[in-house]
Amino acid sequence: MTTLEIRDLHVDVAQTDSDAEPIHILKGVNLTVKSGETHAIMGPNGSGKSTLSYAIAGHPKYQVTSGSITLDGEDVLEMSVDERARAGLFLAMQYPVEVPGVSMSNFLRSAATAVRGEAPKLRHWVKEVKEAMTELEIDPSFSERSVNEGFSGGEKKRHEILQLDLLKPKIAILDETDSGLDVDALRVVSEGVNRYKERENGGILLITHYTRILRYIKPDHVHVFVNGQVVQSGGPELADELEENGYERFLTAKAG
Ligand code: ADP
Ligand code: MG
Ligand code: MG
Repeated sequence: MTTLEIRDLHVDVAQTDSDAEPIHILKGVNLTVKSGETHAIMGPNGSGKSTLSYAIAGHPKYQVTSGSITLDGEDVLEMSVDERARAGLFLAMQYPVEVPGVSMSNFLRSAATAVRGEAPKLRHWVKEVKEAMTELEIDPSFSERSVNEGFSGGEKKRHEILQLDLLKPKIAILDETDSGLDVDALRVVSEGVNRYKERENGGILLITHYTRILRYIKPDHVHVFVNGQVVQSGGPELADELEENGYERFLTAKAG
């Protein structure tokens, strides 16, 4: 059983112009995610959802100014990005990066080596990757292509789920995994996430703007995220309410 615990987290984002003051984005986030639980974080654009995922993953542009993040009591904020991955944290980014000149197969093997602490035996590895790619309906030719280079939105997201499948993290953060997916890709990606959940009993933090993906991946808990904070938490019925009424009620509550 693994527990990711976020307490009163405040995060500033460094602006591109390094002379400019950092912007205060996260304003006291509290959240606990345990193995086997799926938490959906839902909020309007610009509310700080990606900032939360980057802060957990340890992106250097996102500075934690106060609060804590722990994984089974261990201080995540003290860990390097690699150490976080080895500890079992995984982030599928909203905008996955392209890595020209590095093939998918090399990239995945390096990532697996970093997370597992030793290089997977080549024969096993080739089989493992092949099976995972088949399940995700990824064409075998992708293993020789450069990471994410020229991939469509759907292909990038499948690749993220391929990493999830191979790296088997304890807690997976999926940032807008549904964005830009057609219905077929959404189904394949969701099935991959659900398989991960079943096989690894992983904890999932599913960040999304739309309720559509929640028809495929059932959350146990739904959190409404507005202006850098969780403003309401509930069960799956909260997502239904958002589907019906949008975020209006929460925005007005904040202003008033
Ligand atoms: P969401 O994922 O909910 O759409 P983000 O976390 O991406 O929200 O952004 C929250 C706010 O922080 C936005 O106002 C955004 O413009 C700002 N922001 C995020 N990252 C940066 C950055 N690297 N530089 C400047 N502003 C940023
Ligand atoms: Mg956004
Ligand atoms: Mg975002």
